[in-house]
Amino acid sequence: MRVLLVEDDPMIGEAIQGALKDASYAADWVKNGPTALTSLGCQHYDLILLDLGLPGMDGLEVLTTIRAKDNPVPLLVITARDGLDDRLRGLDGGADDYVLKPFEMAELLARMRAVLRRKGGIASPVLSNGTVSLDPATREAVVKTGEPVQLSNREFALLQALLVRPGAILSRSDLEDRIYGWGEEVESNAVEFLIHALRRKLGSAIIKNVRGAGWMVSKSG
Ligand code: CA
Repeated sequence: MRVLLVEDDPMIGEAIQGALKDASYAADWVKNGPTALTSLGCQHYDLILLDLGLPGMDGLEVLTTIRAKDNPVPLLVITARDGLDDRLRGLDGGADDYVLKPFEMAELLARMRAVLRRKGGIASPVLSNGTVSLDPATREAVVKTGEPVQLSNREFALLQALLVRPGAILSRSDLEDRIYGWGEEVESNAVEFLIHALRRKLGSAIIKNVRGAGWMVSKSG
C-alpha cells in the first residue's frame, strides 16, 4: 500500500514516515498542498494522510480540491486544531476520518486500517482468498488452518497488494509502486525475490505467475 503524507512539521513528518515504513507501507512525504496535488496527479496512492495546518495552501483547501476532482482516495485528516468546527469541516469536506495531534502512532495506524477497510467495502479486518489469509494488524499470514507465519515488511506489502483483489493481475511495476516509496532503491529482481520468499514460507501455489503479465492470487482457494 502506498501512502501520501502531507505534513509541514519536520519532526512529526519524519516520525510518521518512519512508523509507516515500519508498518510496511510505501510512504511518500510532501510538505505542502501544491506538491501533494502534483504527486496525486502522477502516482497511485491507497491512502492520504493530510495535515490541516499547512503553510500557503491550507489542508482543507487541498482536501476540497482532491474531492472536487472526484478522487475517492481514502483520506485521513491530521489536525492540531481541537475546535469541533475544523473537524466537522474536514469530515464534511470529504475526509474519511481524522486524528488529533498529539496522537499515538498505533492509533493512527489502526484508523488507517479501518478507513481502508471501509472504503474497500471489506467488513473483516483479515484479508483472505480462502487459501491464505493476512492480518494487517499483526502482519501474520495463515495458510488454511496452519500456523501463523511472520512476514517481513516487504513480503507483507507484496502479499497485501495481491490479496486486496484476488484474481487481479499486478505487473512488476504495479507491485513495486505498492512496496517502495520515493528514494527507495529497487533492485531489478526485487519482486521475484519477494515472491520466492513468500512461496517458500507459504507454499509454491499461493502466488501464480501469469506469463508476460504479472502475478496474482486465486479468487477462491
Ligand atoms: Ca502543520
